[in-house]
Amino acid sequence: MAILYIVATPIGNLEDLSSRALRILKEVDLILCEDTRVTKKLLNYYNTKTKTLSYHQHSRLKKINYILDLLKKGKNLALVSDAGTPGISDPGNKLISAAMKQCNNLTIVPIPGPSAVTCVASISGFPMNKFLFLGFPPTKRKRKNFFKKVLESEYPVIFYESPYRILKTLNELRSMNYGLRMVVARELTKKFETIYRGKINEVIKKIKKEKIKGEFVVIVGR
Ligand code: SAM
Repeated sequence: MAILYIVATPIGNLEDLSSRALRILKEVDLILCEDTRVTKKLLNYYNTKTKTLSYHQHSRLKKINYILDLLKKGKNLALVSDAGTPGISDPGNKLISAAMKQCNNLTIVPIPGPSAVTCVASISGFPMNKFLFLGFPPTKRKRKNFFKKVLESEYPVIFYESPYRILKTLNELRSMNYGLRMVVARELTKKFETIYRGKINEVIKKIKKEKIKGEFVVIVGR
């Protein structure tokens, strides 16, 4: 019987890997990575020599079949993404779904840990008993629709954004509602971690004052 572990890894600070995650990464036959170079930094930090193989959203059927064959042969594998919990706005689901359909004796085991969603939720100060997570805003069509969902939600809304589009996205949101309260978190757990809080206008002003670099996660309050 094979096991496919879905392993959460740090969203920046390498110390945030759980000891269980480390043990699994050391014990498995192979680690499936979104980008092997990114994962190797983590593995080197923990002196882990386990073999890696890239698996990402553009992986072809041939690669997926190769991975499924390993599971069918009883190999234990770990799936990681570049950062955080695999499957939350990054590849993983496709492989899990194919593995469930095609491998009879397979157990899928989650190894929980960091995610930018829960990280920002934990510091927001908004009531987070219920919230809506919307992933990345679409880059072209359907943007208005996305923002409508953000504005109409009964609960706080969390979404991801890239440094290239964060200002554009916030400006568009502001044009639809000037009074939004929000938290924008940049580079969580990393050296340049910055938390911008306040009305959307204030947050935009603060972000504009700095170099817009790094990774962003936004939470719009209720
Ligand atoms: N699966 C990951 C997770 O559990 O957080 C998210 C993957 S998604 C492809 C990457 C996005 O997550 C980034 O573009 C950014 O919006 C957000 N993110 C990841 N790490 C972050 C960090 N350290 N600080 C702020 N946002 C982060």
